[in-house]
Amino acid sequence: MKNEYNIALLPGDGIGPEVSGEAVKVLKVLESKLGLTLKLNEVPVGGAGDEATGHPLPDDSLETARKADAVLLGAVGGPQWENLDFSLRPERALLGLRSSLKLYANLRPAKIFPALVEASTLKQEVVEGLDILVVRELTGGIYFGEPRGVETLADGSRKGVNTLVYSEEEIDRIARVGFDVARKRKKNVVSVDKANVLECTGLWREVVGKVHQDFQDVVLSNMYVDNCAMQLVRNPKQFDVILTTNMFGDILSDEASMLTGSIGMLPSASVGGETGMYEPIHGSAPDIAGKNMANPLAMILSVGMMFKYSFDREEPNEWIESAVEAVLDRGCRTLDIMSKGMKEVGTRAMGDFIVQELEARVK
Ligand code: NAD
Repeated sequence: MKNEYNIALLPGDGIGPEVSGEAVKVLKVLESKLGLTLKLNEVPVGGAGDEATGHPLPDDSLETARKADAVLLGAVGGPQWENLDFSLRPERALLGLRSSLKLYANLRPAKIFPALVEASTLKQEVVEGLDILVVRELTGGIYFGEPRGVETLADGSRKGVNTLVYSEEEIDRIARVGFDVARKRKKNVVSVDKANVLECTGLWREVVGKVHQDFQDVVLSNMYVDNCAMQLVRNPKQFDVILTTNMFGDILSDEASMLTGSIGMLPSASVGGETGMYEPIHGSAPDIAGKNMANPLAMILSVGMMFKYSFDREEPNEWIESAVEAVLDRGCRTLDIMSKGMKEVGTRAMGDFIVQELEARVK
């Protein structure tokens, strides 16, 4: 196993740099405790990329990401860049990174920590023990399909077009990721489509069924996306792995995230190519940026996923998860997960508590 890793650190905008700072503290602990060399190369993306070079994904930043063993990203975007041309908006950096690094599979766990059961908007018995993994296709579908755009017609009115496209190959490879990760979990995949209305997702259903023949130890069922959105609120514990398209996964994973109480708690991994990218699922939260209020736990848990999926080291991920659990059990809460009787802490203090717990765990 390697002992030296190059990590591209892309803090981005808003709360991105704040939560990234806390992730770096965690990396430093793991580096010294495990005798690793973690080389962090920090580069600007998103609005920070726009400010530095006039482009949300500067060439140097992309090159640094390409050469890295893994990419850690905070978040991008903010109101100050909303009037830029679409091609220069901060969020374009995400699409550029995903397609350049060939990150076609996005893994988004929605797992509830016992101490946060009361932070969910759903009843305790509905969410207690919840542990879902959404496997979202990330480089195809309607977000990338051509033709796209808004055109002005001869009569002066405008028409907007986006196109949903999936090739058999794209469906096949994401289905394999879904079945593969299910094998390490409860071996249950629900493939989500809209096969009754969209021919493209009819093909999705067919190809997923075909790939399933190679994974017969995993149970597969199919569900329409509207039903899935409803079932996630009605009885979310029926799900283990949800396998779905880019847009459906975008929406359903945000819905699943709220079952766990806060968007500030959920990490994600994007894999498929040689370099994996790890980031919290939340955005740049301009409303709380610079106020030491952001919850850094999603970002810190993303570090754990990086060790698990890119460095093939399961233990640091387990240590991080158990440090998070311990800190929550001690009653420490950032504002987004605050409840009565708990102790409110800021971003930096939350990071420090995690570091303390890690120091105690990793000998
Ligand atoms: P958001 O996730 O930034 O914020 C939604 C709400 O959740 C806000 O009230 C925010 O304060 C809160 N929140 C988010 N993360 C939090 C955290 N770690 N701790 C505590 N509270 C947190 O979504 P938005 O408001 O729709 O978007 C803001 C900007 O972020 C936009 O420019 C958007 O395009 C961008 N965005 C970026 C990403 C990304 O970088 N991956 C994802 C989503 C949105």
